[in-house]
Amino acid sequence: MLSIKNLHAGIEDKDILKGINLEVKAGEVHAIMGPNGSGKSTLSAVIAGNENYEVTDGSVELDGEDLADLAPEERAHKGVFLSFQYPVEIPGVSVTNFMKTAINESRKAKGQEEMPANEMLKLIREKSELLEIDRKFLSRSLNEGFSGGEKKRNEIFQMAMLEPKLAILDETDSGLDIDALRIVANGVNKLKSENNAIIVITHYQRLLDYIVPDFVHVLYNGKIVKSGGKELAYELEEKGYDWIKAEN
Ligand code: ADP
Ligand code: MG
Ligand code: MG
Repeated sequence: MLSIKNLHAGIEDKDILKGINLEVKAGEVHAIMGPNGSGKSTLSAVIAGNENYEVTDGSVELDGEDLADLAPEERAHKGVFLSFQYPVEIPGVSVTNFMKTAINESRKAKGQEEMPANEMLKLIREKSELLEIDRKFLSRSLNEGFSGGEKKRNEIFQMAMLEPKLAILDETDSGLDIDALRIVANGVNKLKSENNAIIVITHYQRLLDYIVPDFVHVLYNGKIVKSGGKELAYELEEKGYDWIKAEN
């Protein structure tokens, strides 16, 4: 599904990604771990098409299509979803209205009609129940005064509504207490299928107790320096990142 080859990218004069290779197949969950400043968020931004970063070499393909010339919205319409480490606030727009707009924009881009109102309500009800989101929350202004946990849950709600092909969760666990973490992870697990893939970016092994990855990759200094199964996450939890730094 996702094929990244020799990806180099940076910002202004700074090289951040220095030759990333990564293959993600449908049905798989990949975790990307690594110390702060390694390039994890840059990698997710580049996959999503963030135009602040310049790709200087290599390629990112989704289902065999090179994404290089596609804007972020076009990538989103092809099924790439990126949760934000620091979600934005949109005062005056309710969670529900934001979701309606997101769904209808996505349909419009595919040449489909707007979703009928009753169908939309049914979808919102279904997905909010799945994520244990209450009604009051749906009428609140997007991210305004949301707690860390509420922001994260809202991101996963967005993901549930849009049913992306490739979901990238960038430190969705930071700032979550254990209950919120469990709900978010449960939501992600329920959305997992043979047709989609998930990349979970995290500092800590904790989230991976709930969202069990098929593969774990360590990103350090702009490169994937180690890959393995879920046991690699436990090893990192136990030993920290110093040995990775020493080896590279
Ligand atoms: P991580 O998510 O692994 O913590 P980032 O991708 O956020 O790492 O950052 C990787 C490196 O690139 C860091 O040294 C960071 O300071 C730098 N960097 C990332 N984004 C920018 C930016 N917009 N402007 C300048 N430097 C950046
Ligand atoms: Mg960081
Ligand atoms: Mg980051």
